[in-house]
Amino acid sequence: MIKIQKRPLPSDVVIKREKDYRSGPVFQMLVADCHNKCYICEDSLHTSPNVEHRISHKHAPALKYDWENLFLSCSHCNNIKGDKYDGMIDPAQCDPEQVIALSMGLDDELREVVIVSKTGGDEAVDITVALLNAVYNGTHTDMKKYACQQLKNKISNELAWFQQKLDDYKNHPGDDTKAAVAGRISEDALFAAFKRKRVREDPQLAPVFGFGGR
Ligand SMILES: [Zn+2]
Repeated sequence: MIKIQKRPLPSDVVIKREKDYRSGPVFQMLVADCHNKCYICEDSLHTSPNVEHRISHKHAPALKYDWENLFLSCSHCNNIKGDKYDGMIDPAQCDPEQVIALSMGLDDELREVVIVSKTGGDEAVDITVALLNAVYNGTHTDMKKYACQQLKNKISNELAWFQQKLDDYKNHPGDDTKAAVAGRISEDALFAAFKRKRVREDPQLAPVFGFGGR
């Protein structure tokens, strides 16, 4: 999960019903502002982009048509989140990378898991950590377990590929190898939070890619 910079809605664009955010300028702005990926898991949206209400309309009906409350998610995350994690951080206000670290690891039985670590912040961060754990590591039903496994496989493959690009840069520092890394840690890149953590924690790479350490 990364920070989302939402542009203000133009004054002539109004959201009064679902149709207003499922089509037209509101939907187009959501796609662009959320970098064409799910704002929760950072996977691509494939064939099922969902307009997601950060605070569900069950708990806050007035926010159903509030631009600030709308994000874009995949159906996996939208289904898991529902109205159960309404206290999560607002990634348009709070930078998730400042309070949550994401990496791949192994559990006690040597199964691959996403390690979701709280690095700062308040109860909203705890709720977001719980949401991310459910999204990446959920085992509630076999169906969810299957979906989470597919997602983890995809993250693993992306990170293996990314590691090659990091090694290429270290072995042959140059404009080309640097650009290959930079492109994969941009806001538009899938699973950018995982990749940036690797760069940020590498003392050789961090200053090169604009991470001054934390
Ligand atoms: Zn997702």
